[in-house]
Amino acid sequence: MNLLRELPKIDKFIKSKKFEGLNLNLISKIAKQKIENLREKILNKEIVSFSIEEIEDDVKNSYEKLFEPSLIPLINATGVILHTNMGRSLIDKELLNRASKVITNYSNLEYNLKVGCRGERYEHVTNHLKNLLGVEDVLVVNNNASAVFLILNTFAKGKEAVVSRGELVEIGGSFRIPEVMAQSGAILREVGATNKTKKSDYKNAINENTAMLMKVHKSNFSIEGFSEETSYKEIKALCSEFDLLDYYDLGSGYIPELPYNLGANEPSLKDILKDDPSLISFSGDKLFGSVQAGIIAGKSKLIEKLKKNQLLRMLRVDKITLSILEETIKSYLREDFKSIPTLWLLFQSIEDLEARAKKIAQEIGKDKCEVIKTQTFMGGGTLPSRKFPSVGLHIKGKAVKLEREFRKNGLIGRIEEDKFLIDFRSILPEVDGRIVEIIEEILV
Ligand SMILES: *Cc1c(COP(=O)(O)O)cnc(C)c1O
Repeated sequence: MNLLRELPKIDKFIKSKKFEGLNLNLISKIAKQKIENLREKILNKEIVSFSIEEIEDDVKNSYEKLFEPSLIPLINATGVILHTNMGRSLIDKELLNRASKVITNYSNLEYNLKVGCRGERYEHVTNHLKNLLGVEDVLVVNNNASAVFLILNTFAKGKEAVVSRGELVEIGGSFRIPEVMAQSGAILREVGATNKTKKSDYKNAINENTAMLMKVHKSNFSIEGFSEETSYKEIKALCSEFDLLDYYDLGSGYIPELPYNLGANEPSLKDILKDDPSLISFSGDKLFGSVQAGIIAGKSKLIEKLKKNQLLRMLRVDKITLSILEETIKSYLREDFKSIPTLWLLFQSIEDLEARAKKIAQEIGKDKCEVIKTQTFMGGGTLPSRKFPSVGLHIKGKAVKLEREFRKNGLIGRIEEDKFLIDFRSILPEVDGRIVEIIEEILV
């Protein structure tokens, strides 16, 4: 029982030099728990001795653990630029710097400076986006899933929205068109078959309860072989004829022409807007290469209605989103693609990637690795089944073991034909030095 009397008193215990500069309230809370555990162990005769120093170290360890970051930067060496599990689009540092002035100060987020009264948060990106897209009006919400939800809820609640059976997509992370539709209150009217939907299928489905004809981009799969889909132009024509709303969920929208003929099966925003759609929506952080957001564009009459929906309050974006988005749109207006990393990575030439891989190979020794030509995907629910060229550094050795060790060091690579690859398509040059360090650490 003597041991119990030796247990430290909290007030005195937390005064130890070891805890200098730390939050003593938190230390005290952790220490109480530890000492209580110790008391029980003594009573249960599980321990026969302890030292104050041990307890102090234990408390300090637990304290420090609390502050270990949960979100940490990684090197994406998978070659997949829009990696959904690794944060999709990157934000350029300088672009973020410009945006940060707004984020770290009070701003005119909802303040009209001219009149000195309440303003409109959505207005800040509106003009830039209208200029960029050449549309009547725009609205920005939390992500494209919210955009789809808001549009269906506003225009098709209790009414039918017609969608092709070939377009009832599921995007990673449980976004499913049929389920989103049900939640929004819209009634899904499926038409056509998985591989074929004709204009007449849409037409035959139209009845007095039809609100809209919706087209959904096949973001992460493709239907090949005996297949047919109805163009947006034809859908739009039907909508005009029957006075219905036409809406295109693009998933990912992009502005400049894509390299490697990647745009062959996927029209650009410019091409789609040629058909004069009433409403479109797309993600801010897929091929558009900005922050997480859902961008809605189209007729001002319709955008007005969306703004009046109470749901918008729940889907609204913060100043952080708006200020970064504003900077990305300005980069597009300047055609400064350097500050849009998603595009910058996509546009990197094979020669540039090869030069970087070769330089690293030289540094670590040619017996340990080889530079190879490979292919990769864009990812993030864009450009499905479209591979394009890339360059990899094959690290020699057991692929599965290497994958695990590199992962432990914050580098996520790819295994291809039993080879562990570091694919340069998705790597910013500024981390090349760090990659050499990691390889050397693992291969010693
Ligand atoms: C990705 C995608 C969505 C969801 O967009 P988020 O921005 O991830 O919410 C919706 N529809 C389609 C067709 C998509 O590709």
